[in-house]
Amino acid sequence: MKVPFLDLNAHHQPIREQLDAAIRDVIDASAFAGGPFVAAFERDFARYCGSSQAIGVGSGTDALWLSLLALNIGPGDEVITAPSTFMATAEAISYCGARPKFVDIDEQTYTLDPGLLERAITPRTKAIIPVHLFGQCADMEPILEIAAGRGIPVVEDACQAHGALYKGRKAGSMGTTGCFSFYPGKNLGALGEAGAVTTDAAELAAQIRVLRDHGQHKKYHHSKVGWNGRMDGIQGAVLGVKLKHLDVGNARRHAHALLYDQLLGGLEEVITPSEAPHNRHVYHVYAVRVKDRDQVLQAMSDRGISCAIHYPIPVHLQEAYRFLGYEQGSFPVAERCAEEFLSLPMFPELTSEQIHAVADALKSCLSARKPCASCVK
Ligand SMILES: *Cc1c(COP(=O)(O)O)cnc(C)c1O
Repeated sequence: MKVPFLDLNAHHQPIREQLDAAIRDVIDASAFAGGPFVAAFERDFARYCGSSQAIGVGSGTDALWLSLLALNIGPGDEVITAPSTFMATAEAISYCGARPKFVDIDEQTYTLDPGLLERAITPRTKAIIPVHLFGQCADMEPILEIAAGRGIPVVEDACQAHGALYKGRKAGSMGTTGCFSFYPGKNLGALGEAGAVTTDAAELAAQIRVLRDHGQHKKYHHSKVGWNGRMDGIQGAVLGVKLKHLDVGNARRHAHALLYDQLLGGLEEVITPSEAPHNRHVYHVYAVRVKDRDQVLQAMSDRGISCAIHYPIPVHLQEAYRFLGYEQGSFPVAERCAEEFLSLPMFPELTSEQIHAVADALKSCLSARKPCASCVK
């Protein structure tokens, strides 16, 4: 059986008429850049996240970058984040002129290890960006406590965690700001590029609204040098439709993860993801850990099962960041995980038959590998 890594067609087909109608409404109203459809989605998404405001922007990268700019982060400043993330988290720091500083991840949740945070803070540290990797929130309580004690803002990278919970609190509602991506493959995805910032800080929200619109507080009156970081009207309208289906999609992902856990949990060669007891994981990515990962990835692909790697190189070892001076061994947990992570197919419309096929294929790939492992002895 062939199993795709992601099937956006299966996701959109049942709501296709609602999506078409939403797009038609935007065309009829000619409200393409920002405007009323974006404003309506901002209200709905803020309510969903339990934040007082949401600001629609062009992408998750914009959300992170504009959050940091609004917090006045710039040259000479350091911003702490985890090396196990998508490049955009660090790029946002760099595009403010600040310097990314990494802290290794916890081996259970794959998120920033709060036990290592304190010693990474310097007088230059101006923000901390925990990343809710794969759809599970970082351990926010100690992170927020350490940050609050020093007056350092916390910017949540919730780009993979729409609807995730930490001790009953929604991802994106705990930090100074929460940053979301609506890239098509995310749990809440647009039909194009989009993102949002959530916050309870009215002044900061106002700043971000000005920054995303060329620094204009009033048309053609520019109080700041800003940027074009607006959300498209069509994306706002489409996201309003898709937000109504987010909880159902997340619940299905969670059930799929439990089935994968059951089928794979007993295998010695596989480390399945663990959900911290206080968390509700939304499984944007279901990543297992295996030895000889690249070989297993290829063998799965030969059996028609599409897997992926999130991410093969931790950010501190990317060529682009060689100038930061990190090396192999700087963050051993992140590095080991990057060698072993294998993301299995995960999307709400996955069937139990497909999940069984993936698990069976993984078992046979791993046992096909065994003779070689034993001949090394
Ligand atoms: C997707 C993602 C981003 C960037 O979002 P874009 O909308 O693609 O700009 C940032 N951080 C993480 C962890 C992501 O997964």
